[in-house]
Amino acid sequence: MPPDPTRSFTASPNALFATHVARTARLSPGFVRLTLTGPDLDRFAPYGLDQRVKILLGGPCPELAPGLPEREWRRVWRAVPEDRRPVLRSYTAYEVRPATREIDLDFYVHDPAGPASDWALGAAPGDPLLVSGPDVTAGRPAHGIQWEPGPDVRRVLVAGDETAYPAIRGILAALPRSVRADVLLEAGDPADAATLDDVTHGPGRSAHVVLRAGAPGGVALTAALGRWVDEHGAAAADLGTGFYAWAATESTRVRAVRDAWDGAGLDPARVHTQGYWHDRPR
Ligand SMILES: Cc1cc2nc3c(=O)[nH]c(=O)nc-3n(C[C@H](O)[C@H](O)[C@H](O)COP(=O)(O)OP(=O)(O)OC[C@H]3O[C@@H](n4cnc5c(N)ncnc54)[C@H](O)[C@@H]3O)c2cc1C
Repeated sequence: MPPDPTRSFTASPNALFATHVARTARLSPGFVRLTLTGPDLDRFAPYGLDQRVKILLGGPCPELAPGLPEREWRRVWRAVPEDRRPVLRSYTAYEVRPATREIDLDFYVHDPAGPASDWALGAAPGDPLLVSGPDVTAGRPAHGIQWEPGPDVRRVLVAGDETAYPAIRGILAALPRSVRADVLLEAGDPADAATLDDVTHGPGRSAHVVLRAGAPGGVALTAALGRWVDEHGAAAADLGTGFYAWAATESTRVRAVRDAWDGAGLDPARVHTQGYWHDRPR
């Protein structure tokens, strides 16, 4: 029998939420914030940090009814004919306000724009969007969070390109200022990195912006991570569970980032590295 591709979602507390755009805001040259609202968003878990969600883009798809749990909507989604099957993309629900039934998603608009970037650019109040995220009534708190520094942490490194900025905002907003945080941001335009100034500056924070300068996504960040590891890697490794690192960027760069952590002797359990986007047609 072929493997069941929905098996890994059996225990997921995620469900489909019907939402529509309440308002949009251009945050900076590269970022659009969409505030979504929906009748059931009072049940959408507000975990913050790097809490991931899936958005389903496309025209009406009656098979995908709001409320369907992830293990079921994945199966239904696969059976929808390809020409009208919604496009799936991952985003960060960095701010969820159950009391007012609202979620903020910040979209970095890629160039050339893929379907999600394109949708965000043209979105207007009233536009519908299906979102899959954790339903608080389904249990499994913190599902969809990768940031796990543990109780002993004293120093962290947080690094990413623009697609990771919403997660980095969520992580740094929740991090006590007593924990020393080094932050590496790749940017095509420094004005986009400046949207994080409130969380990357001040006591306990040291932020460095590296410009892409025409190179493919993730190249400048990977080089900066390598320099950070050369300078601080041994001291970080000595801290053991006192150190934690999180990095997200273009998927083909992830290997180089992992190699840099390994080269510094960092315990793989103390680093999280994730491909956030693919710089190629899907
Ligand atoms: C857990 C998680 C959380 C995330 N959170 C966020 C978030 O909060 N905000 C955010 O902005 N992103 C986030 N991302 C990243 C986001 O999922 C990607 O940026 C997403 O793929 C963008 O979708 P898209 O449809 O706009 O572009 P895609 O279709 O995925 O294409 C991405 C890029 O690939 C290249 N490309 C694609 N097709 C072509 C082509 N035909 N020719 C040339 N180049 C091409 C282009 O550079 C294009 O812009 C997150 C990812 C993960 C895994």
